[in-house]
Amino acid sequence: MIKPLHDITPLWHSQPLSRVAGLPVHLKVEALQPIGSFKIRGVGRLCSLAAARGARRFVSSSGGNAGIATAYAGCRLGIPVSVFTFANVPKAAVARMREFGADVVEAGATWDAAHQAANHLAETENAVYIHPFDHPDLWQGHSTLIDELVDVGYVPDVLVCSVGGGGLLTGIIQGLARHNLHPHIIIVETHNTASLKASLEAGRLVRFDLKPSVAKTLAASQVAEQAFISARDYGVEPIAVSDQEALDACRQFALDHRLLVEPSAGAALAVAYERLGSLPNHQRALIVVCGGAGISLKQDIFDY
Ligand SMILES: *Cc1c(COP(=O)(O)O)cnc(C)c1O
Repeated sequence: MIKPLHDITPLWHSQPLSRVAGLPVHLKVEALQPIGSFKIRGVGRLCSLAAARGARRFVSSSGGNAGIATAYAGCRLGIPVSVFTFANVPKAAVARMREFGADVVEAGATWDAAHQAANHLAETENAVYIHPFDHPDLWQGHSTLIDELVDVGYVPDVLVCSVGGGGLLTGIIQGLARHNLHPHIIIVETHNTASLKASLEAGRLVRFDLKPSVAKTLAASQVAEQAFISARDYGVEPIAVSDQEALDACRQFALDHRLLVEPSAGAALAVAYERLGSLPNHQRALIVVCGGAGISLKQDIFDY
């Protein structure tokens, strides 16, 4: 039995969002995880299982929440962590990883460079690569989010979550299958990071031409193959929002719920604020507030 490194998060009924959407809206508040995002669910499980199998070192390829989650998990488990980051990773994120004792090195311009460096270290130094979105143990950890809904007897008709590489979505779909639940799922990306939407529209896994977006943690040029297959077979509805909509939603959410979340969570919240009201036949909506450390008062979400 593996002891989870994540917390059970609150399920809030949102009065402001319910009023705007015209239906009961609940929030799974992953922003209240100890590291500020859901990532610790999957990363925690992946690291704990690897530790139980004798892992001596973890390596991550993320300049964001997955790197922070790996640093945190390594700190809790007493296992050293190396994180490869890439250009334009926020200093605050690197500082957080170092706070948990991780060794942080910039590997190149893009995530692909960090991914390669991490793979290389895993091969040469016998470290375990903690992939940010593509591993079965990771998905199993993310799926605990659904177990927690079932534990409190809450079942949504529509579930909204944002997608980067698709790890969260894959875990959610697996959790739903375990409990034989089949809500409508809306997956949200920003226009500039809409790689899963592009693959679903093409009918096959494609590489998306990423452009800069405020939703940095949604920027994966290609989702995990399993994420594409799960999303296609489940029949999720893809929606893309603008950066401005994601930022507006972060700001409104901070005013409504006194909680600052990063734009990747703002993307899912934007759908709740702007579009749920126009969906037919939905009784109960759940928004996964994925959270994220990539936000500060300096992001100017109150000033633009
Ligand atoms: C990683 C992350 C995402 C995207 O999750 P994927 O599993 O890559 O789809 C969204 N929001 C936050 C806050 C994240 O850390």
